[in-house]
Amino acid sequence: MGKVIAIDGPSGAGKSTISRLIAGKLGFQFLDTGALYRATALHLRRKAIEPESHDIEILAALNGVTINFKNGRVFLNGEDVSEEIRTTEAGHYASVFSAKKAVRDFLLQIQRDAAIENDIVAEGRDMTTVVFPSAWKKFFLDASEEGRARRRYLQLKEKGMEITMDEALRDVQERDKRDSSRDLAPLKRADDAIYIDTTDLNLEEVLKKVLEAIGN
Ligand code: C5P
Repeated sequence: MGKVIAIDGPSGAGKSTISRLIAGKLGFQFLDTGALYRATALHLRRKAIEPESHDIEILAALNGVTINFKNGRVFLNGEDVSEEIRTTEAGHYASVFSAKKAVRDFLLQIQRDAAIENDIVAEGRDMTTVVFPSAWKKFFLDASEEGRARRRYLQLKEKGMEITMDEALRDVQERDKRDSSRDLAPLKRADDAIYIDTTDLNLEEVLKKVLEAIGN
């Protein structure tokens, strides 16, 4: 088992950007677990599975499904879905389906397997609490709701997607409410996670704080 740096937090707190940077600096692999949930939800929707569908139906639909990362791209059953999974609609369905036991069980082993032979930076909602409770280092990244909406808005705009600030705000509000209140692996701050509020910090400052806590 490799070393795991586990990072959780609500959407738009800056987890992906910082995780990618830390992974690059330390020579660790980056595990974007949100992408796993997004790709899984995309697959289920393509199979006409409804959020209300029974776990048995969901498990059957997920049988044999592969999700891989290569050169920063995301592949669902070999198909590059990197762009398709980034829309607000894909995020909405990822959040809805991520509350299902069949989906969480399906992804649990995939996530743990990623650390068997590699040192990794894993980011998501339950890295510090459920997937890697004994992680080497744990962080909880947070920011004000408005700050997170602004970050989400800028990220999507940069990708050339049509979005307003209001839509970005609704996206983070709706998903965070659902992700924090679900029964299974809800988003919460682990007691032993280092808390960083990124609202008024630039990337360099967040990076410095994380690296200091890691001892670099
Ligand atoms: O991080 P990202 O916004 O890409 O995640 C999309 C959705 O996937 C989240 O809103 C959440 O519902 C779900 N997710 C999760 N557990 C994780 C990572 C993501 O439930 N570890």
